[in-house]
Amino acid sequence: MKVCLLLILLLLPAALPADAQTELVIAYLDVGQGDSTIIKMPNGKTLLIDGGERVETQTILDMADSLSIERFDVVVATHPHADHIGGLVDLFYEFPVGRVLDSGQQHTTKTFEDYLTAIEENKIPYTMVRDGDDIDLDPTVDIQVLNPVKNLPFAMHDPDNFNNNSVVVMLKYGEFSAIFPGDIEAATEGLLSNRDIDVDLLLASHHGSNTSNTPTYLNAASPEVVIIYAGQDNIYGFPHGEVLQRIDALGPLLFRTDVDGHILLYANQTHYEIETLGTNKSVVIPEFPNLLVVSALPIAAVIILWRYGKWKL
Ligand SMILES: [Zn+2]
Repeated sequence: MKVCLLLILLLLPAALPADAQTELVIAYLDVGQGDSTIIKMPNGKTLLIDGGERVETQTILDMADSLSIERFDVVVATHPHADHIGGLVDLFYEFPVGRVLDSGQQHTTKTFEDYLTAIEENKIPYTMVRDGDDIDLDPTVDIQVLNPVKNLPFAMHDPDNFNNNSVVVMLKYGEFSAIFPGDIEAATEGLLSNRDIDVDLLLASHHGSNTSNTPTYLNAASPEVVIIYAGQDNIYGFPHGEVLQRIDALGPLLFRTDVDGHILLYANQTHYEIETLGTNKSVVIPEFPNLLVVSALPIAAVIILWRYGKWKL
């Protein structure tokens, strides 16, 4: 009896995991050399940002299934490169999608033509977004578009500008905030650095390229965690060594899809937890009190009651 009671008291703190009050879930998918992020709101509404390469549709569908997602209410295509829109093409035929938002940039590739055809054939509402637009999915989650800015400094439909005209999204939920920047380069990072972009979690721009992720921008964002989308042994050498050094100098935790596989984040109003499915890492931010200390409290209470109180076991 005594042992049972002690065990129950001991296990109580451990039985209250960080995700007990989980309300927001973000899945950073390992889609090889590409980007794809699934966000599930506290009210169950869903947002998909980018879809990786064409072959990655099933990766998105598998994660949607494991998160009990049956529809994407909004899909954001940050810019018209194949490593961001490829996996969306078959998804539009195979999975319910409420509406598609993108930068409005037109590419000449077959992948982009197929993307437009898939939107049209499935009669999905399709809108261009700009700085200042909100993506209203859940009243407790603030999702703002920060880029492209309204008076574009970079001409539309010019392949040289596709990256800088990426849709950039900032999300805030309780104490948690994050930026999803697509493949913006140093020029757009310069524009954003003059604004309030202080966040907890920063997705590195353009797969950790050294043409982005400037020290000024990283300092302005001052993240606790950086996540990099990169494919194993990719031909571009992403993430670049100098970017890794800059991140290291700044000090945030770093996770990479090429190393850690899928990266899952569970946030409630005060804490968030990151789990990596490839490397089985797990971290809660801010850290909870040491479980040993928390567990020791009920033990001390039992000993005091038993030794000095009238309580007999
Ligand atoms: Zn890319």
